[in-house]
This record gives sequence, C-alpha cells and structure tokens, in this order.
Amino acid sequence: MSEILVLVEHVDGEVKKVTLELLTLARSLGTPAAVWAGPGYGEPAKARLAEYGAEKVYLADSAEIVDYVVGPKAELLATLVAEKSPAAVLIAATPEGKEIAGRLAIKTDSGVITDAVGLSEGFVADQSIFGGGVNVKSRVTKGTPIIAVRPNSTAPEAAPGAAAEEQVTVTLSDAAKAAKVVERVKQEKGARPELTEAAIVVSGGRGVGSAENFAIIEKLADSLGAAVGASRAATDAGWYPHQFQVGQTGKTVSPQLYIAAGISGAIQHRAGMQTAKTIVAINKDPEAPIFELADFGVVGDLFQVVPQLTEEIEKR
Ligand code: FAD
Repeated sequence: MSEILVLVEHVDGEVKKVTLELLTLARSLGTPAAVWAGPGYGEPAKARLAEYGAEKVYLADSAEIVDYVVGPKAELLATLVAEKSPAAVLIAATPEGKEIAGRLAIKTDSGVITDAVGLSEGFVADQSIFGGGVNVKSRVTKGTPIIAVRPNSTAPEAAPGAAAEEQVTVTLSDAAKAAKVVERVKQEKGARPELTEAAIVVSGGRGVGSAENFAIIEKLADSLGAAVGASRAATDAGWYPHQFQVGQTGKTVSPQLYIAAGISGAIQHRAGMQTAKTIVAINKDPEAPIFELADFGVVGDLFQVVPQLTEEIEKR
C-alpha cells in the first residue's frame, strides 16, 4: 500500500493527540509514515508513533528546522513528496498546519484541502466551508493530495507499526529562512486540556455576564475534564482571555461534545464549533439561533442550569 505522510505535531518531545488521530486515519487508507521535524525525538516519541501504526519515521531533527516560521517544515515535506511519491500528506488543521499545507501545495504544484473533518477511500474529504455554513465532499485532482484535518475528527486507535527510522537532511533555501523565530513563550500548562484538542468544550458567552461569573463555566468544564471556550462577545468584554475565543476569528474546535451557555449562535461563532459531534445549548431565549444547531437544548437561565448540571455530574 502506498505511503501516507503524517506531519507529527509535538511539544517537548511529546507527540500530540492530533497526530495519533492522523495516523489512525492514514492507516485506514494506506501505510502511515510519520514525519518528525525539529529536535525532541527520542524513545518515548518513537514508542508512541509505533503504537499508533507508523511504519516509518522520517527524521529531520535538526534544531534549524524550528528556528524559522513554517518555511522549513514545508520544504522538508516537499523534499519527501519529491523523493518518496506518497499517496497523500496529512497535516493537522491548526493555524501552523494550514500554513504549511498551503505552502506545500505551491511547492509541489498540488491541490490542498483544509479543515477536513473526515476522509474516505480515494482521499475524499468531508469539509466544512463558507464559515461552516456548507458541508461538502472534496477531492484533490492535481498532484499529491495535501489534506489538513481538524483535531478530534477521528478517534485515535492503537495498532502496532514498525516505526523504522530514516534520517532526512534538508538544505534550507533562503525562502524557507524568510521569517525567523525570535522568542518562544511557553504557555502555562494548566490542568485543562488544550482547547483545540479537547474532547469536550464548555463555552460561555455574553449571557455569562462578567469575568467572575466565568467561574461557573470553569466548574462545569472541570467536572467533565473539558476545556473552556468563549464567544467573542465574552472575550471582547475582557471576561475571558482572547486565546480561548471560539469562532471565525478565534479557534476552531471539533470536540465530541460542545456545551454553549449564554451564546446566541451567531454565524461567526458557529464557524468555529459546528463540526462538534454533539452540541448542547443552554439559553434563556427559546428563539436563540443556537437551538437550530443544537442536538440538545435547555431553555433556561444558565445561572440555574449550569450549577445543577455540574452538581449532577460531580455526583456520578
Ligand atoms: P449574544 O449574541 O449577545 O448572545 C448572548 C446570548 O445569551 C443570548 O442568546 C441570550 O438569550 C443569552 N443569555 C443571556 N443571559 C442568559 C442567561 N442568564 N442564561 C442563559 N442564556 C442567557 N463571535 C464569536 O463568538 N467568535 C468569533 O470568532 C467571531 N468572529 C467575528 C468576526 C467578525 C468579522 C464579526 C463581524 C463578528 C464576529 N463575532 C465572533 C461576533 C458574532 O457576530 C457575535 O456578536 C458573537 O458571537 C455574540 O456572542 P454571544 O453569543 O456571546 O452574545
């Protein structure tokens, strides 16, 4: 079976969950080959990639790769596409991943699909377009299919792979060195899962009313082991940090469960969450547009509903 390249997302040598999802997806369509870019590769990473079925690991672990913004990773993948002729390249649809996918498509004269939420035979991607308003099936018709898949689109399943390492050397062009990383600020790793990777997200909107009131959203999130999100109305008001904004100009999430409390369901908010598998809305207005989208709706005051829900979950 043909090789499918999967660009590994990693932090401090730890493989991120989205990569395990992409390996699982790749396994259903061919032979997964992981591509490791930058330092940090070691036994734990190798074991993780092998556990999820990587037959090969292409290793470009020089520090220079991460000295520059996205360019080197796109160049590395372009080199591998030219040398190995893979059946497809899968990349996580994170902001960085989407930029790499776009650059790779130009370099290899190939088609690119971003924000895929599913992938089937023939690399037909389920894709959410026009701010999430329309779902389409897309297929690349030119070059090597380059597909950026949203985190949480596939449940990762372990299956052993050989993870045979092959060192890859890339000589970076000047173009790849166009933007240098000048500083890295490590984000505090809180107890909650990362927003774009979380299986459950609890978001609050204008209905939450204040920064202090976000404590009840956090409490519900913690009872579920969920990440906290917010609408732009809430982040613009300064009630919750912008990095947690969900929507067109915020983060895109695709969790198993999305709970929206005090959020009306504006199109720009939907754009960031409507591919969630199950959506629960809590809103006191029965006419709120979020109910058109929700699988389960609770018409009620969030200050009553959310604490009751939290209490019930904590009992179980
Ligand atoms: P509102 O629309 O004001 O809704 C608040 C809801 O809370 C109402 O439905 C109300 O019934 C309910 N409510 C009030 N009190 C309670 C209570 N006690 N209990 C239960 N329910 C209650 N928005 C985003 O979220 N993300 C984006 O990325 C984003 N990008 C944008 C980009 C552009 C270019 C533009 C123009 C807009 C963007 N917006 C974005 C803003 C978007 O249009 C909406 O204004 C925003 O999503 C509204 O947030 P909200 O639902 O929290 O507030």
